[in-house]
Amino acid sequence: MALSDKDRIFTNLYGLHGWQLDAARRRGHWDGTKGLIEKGRDWIIEEVKNSGLRGRGGAGFPTGLKWSFMPKQASDRPHYLVVNADESEPGTCKDRDILRHDPHTLVEGCLIAGVAMGAHAGYIYVRGEYYNEHLVLQAAIDEAYAAGLLGPNACGGGWDFDLYVHRGAGAYICGEETALIESLEGKKGMPRLKPPFPAAVGLYGCPSTVNNVETIAVVPTILRRGASWFAGFGRPKNSGTKIFCIQGHVNKPCNVEEEMSIPLRELIEKHAGGVRGGWDNLLAVIPGGSSTPMIPKAVCDDVLMDFDALREHKTGLGTAGVIVMDRSTDLIKAIARLSTFYKHESCGQCTPCREGMGWVKRMMDRMVEGRAEVDEIDVLEQVTRQIEGHTICALADGGVWPVQGLIRHFRPMMEERIAAYKAAKGSPAPTLPM
Ligand code: NAD
Repeated sequence: MALSDKDRIFTNLYGLHGWQLDAARRRGHWDGTKGLIEKGRDWIIEEVKNSGLRGRGGAGFPTGLKWSFMPKQASDRPHYLVVNADESEPGTCKDRDILRHDPHTLVEGCLIAGVAMGAHAGYIYVRGEYYNEHLVLQAAIDEAYAAGLLGPNACGGGWDFDLYVHRGAGAYICGEETALIESLEGKKGMPRLKPPFPAAVGLYGCPSTVNNVETIAVVPTILRRGASWFAGFGRPKNSGTKIFCIQGHVNKPCNVEEEMSIPLRELIEKHAGGVRGGWDNLLAVIPGGSSTPMIPKAVCDDVLMDFDALREHKTGLGTAGVIVMDRSTDLIKAIARLSTFYKHESCGQCTPCREGMGWVKRMMDRMVEGRAEVDEIDVLEQVTRQIEGHTICALADGGVWPVQGLIRHFRPMMEERIAAYKAAKGSPAPTLPM
């Protein structure tokens, strides 16, 4: 079932209306927020749990559960809400449209989330490149302060809450939650070991929760309409609505809020004008941003777009950045380009990532030409397995999974490339992978 307009949470995703407070209020935002806050922390967390909301930043961790990890007992340590607006995953541009077209969904969500986790302050870490977006967000926050919706006794609900915007400086790694926290503290953005998770030791060593923009922005509407309303979309454990970013070889690239678990084919054909040259011209899709392995057309034909359905095919929903590649695509080159990206963005802290992503990039560059032996495809695979799971954060995992997906589904294409190189130039000179 496709979502109807009345069920969409983001009523200004395309910027057709004003983002300002009066326009946002006309669309129903900030309606009854005081009453929601007054219902208290336990009620908010229970509702979010019952809605089935899972984190929209990529990992899909249950949001209500994450909020429940924040300590309940009184302590002299402040609690912090941290919003991850460092959206940098290639293929992903959904939070950007929330920030620039519907910022009050996020600002209102921050206040409610702050109450739920006992935080009197929230920090929104905005990707440095989102300059205009941060201006709009700051203006929305200023409006909220002026209207008494933020600050002391925010919304008249008896809770003091301040909200700050912090701009990043263009590092992909700062989207990793603990690197983001380090960066907020004024240090170099390098991930911390987990555990301890931020709820125990987060910003300035205090209990903190880091959530993605979309995750926070959907909460006020969930509370207003009820957990069961949200849980009624999608499938069990994969509920709600979700913004999908559809791009690549489609006729009409777009961002669209749709029901979770919508079939991939329906998503592309209904909202993005279909695959360029028709569905049969499809070669593969990266379903959830660059960190998720591609799936070939045969899987795309009937796969559902949710966490669990995609996991069955050894990929993931990730950020729901859907990258469509038709038969004209050089898949090996596309994945080699991603390897270059991950190598470049490695913070260098862990040896398997710092050194390994260089190996992967250089081997992938040779695979693009076919300048390799067939058994080096196995070596490449083994190198990715040595990297996966052996680093502090998930950057390197995200870097090698696309390569594994390429080998899993398109190994014959790689072998053909090697054979073509040999036919044209003879055997390549032996090359060490480094
Ligand atoms: P993760 O699974 O380690 O953590 C997800 C969240 O759940 C974190 O907030 C973490 O603190 C919490 N969590 C997990 N286990 C917990 C536990 N036992 N106790 C308490 N809290 C726990 O994943 P991650 O490294 O945060 O995110 C990886 C994902 O990020 C990738 O799958 C990718 O899709 C996505 N990603 C998104 C972007 C973007 O621009 N939005 C960029 C890069 C990667």
